[in-house]
Amino acid sequence: MNKQKKSIFEMDIDELKEYCVGLGLPKYIADQVLDWVYKKHQLSIDKMKNISKKNQAVLAEHIDFNIFKNVQSVTSEEENAIKSSCVLEDGNFLECVVLKEKNYNTLCISSQCGCPVDCKFCLTGVVGFKRQLTASEIVKQVVYAFSINQPITNIVFMGMGEPLLNADQVFKAIDMLTHPKLYNISKRNITVSTSGFIKGIEYLKKHDRVVNLAFSVGSADPIKRERIMPVEKRNPIVDFVKVLKEYQSQHNRKLTLEYTLLEGVNDTDYDIKSLINLAKYLNAKINLINLNPHKKIPYKPVSIDKIHAIQSVIKKQKCAVTIRYKKGQDITAACGQLGESYLN
Ligand code: SAH
Ligand code: SF4
Repeated sequence: MNKQKKSIFEMDIDELKEYCVGLGLPKYIADQVLDWVYKKHQLSIDKMKNISKKNQAVLAEHIDFNIFKNVQSVTSEEENAIKSSCVLEDGNFLECVVLKEKNYNTLCISSQCGCPVDCKFCLTGVVGFKRQLTASEIVKQVVYAFSINQPITNIVFMGMGEPLLNADQVFKAIDMLTHPKLYNISKRNITVSTSGFIKGIEYLKKHDRVVNLAFSVGSADPIKRERIMPVEKRNPIVDFVKVLKEYQSQHNRKLTLEYTLLEGVNDTDYDIKSLINLAKYLNAKINLINLNPHKKIPYKPVSIDKIHAIQSVIKKQKCAVTIRYKKGQDITAACGQLGESYLN
């Protein structure tokens, strides 16, 4: 990218207005540009018809409208998932996945390149941490989905990375994506998933951020948890849950406990009982995810019968529970499978 150029996607409305004025353009040009980009999905300046040729030339000289350097997209066999591996300016990758439902599309997006948290069942953990994503790189994942005719109504931060370790950029991106003049995505349709950082919840409280949260439990037993999720060492689940409960009591937004099932590790009656107690205490819904296996991950998924048996045990205890059916496993687009670009 030309060093003098600023990416359109790194500027929120006020920043863009200021930038336009600095270029000697009238303020209203910013509104016109945003309308073309985020409402009409037009990224070619010369097609922005209500902007004069002269002003188009100024914009072209100073603003970059490119999304990614290169993108490779694959569609799953059942055509219900599209995984995109996107090359960034510095050669790093990010991956995002469109999950197609009948009446809406969810985009599973990345918040970091790789991830430093090192959960032992997660492929992104195997990849390790490369770098933080900027707000603009987070927004671009959504722009890219629209550009391939996949209008997005729901967003889950369940791609690569731990969003609460990159909170400033994640929430700048959320502010842009939910702005009425940009995509106007409902805040209620955005879920931030975390492996459990106490400081992350404190950040939400301090900045008065209200979001749907998903908490990746791994195991409700601290000793077992530490073996599969090293985050437990500095963020003991007992303390994390206290902070989380306080946050929930202030906001009453949706809370989901994500539970990745690992055969023989966290699937005993005792494990499930502990999970149920946790869900009751937090008034949360449980989402069971069977492990997506990979040769680099030393665990196995449970059987289909087992996952259904676990679901009925939870139901009997009057806890809301769903099973997340895998989409796009054939293209390693399912949870915890992102990061293949780095391994290839
Ligand atoms: N870092 C955040 C969000 C990204 S991971 C977090 O951990 O919550 C998104 C979800 O995928 C998490 O719930 C995680 O526990 C789950 N996951 C990770 N690896 C998985 C795997 N191999 N199979 C199934 N789910 C996995
Ligand atoms: Fe990171 Fe989440 Fe994977 Fe853990 S599960 S390594 S926090 S992406």
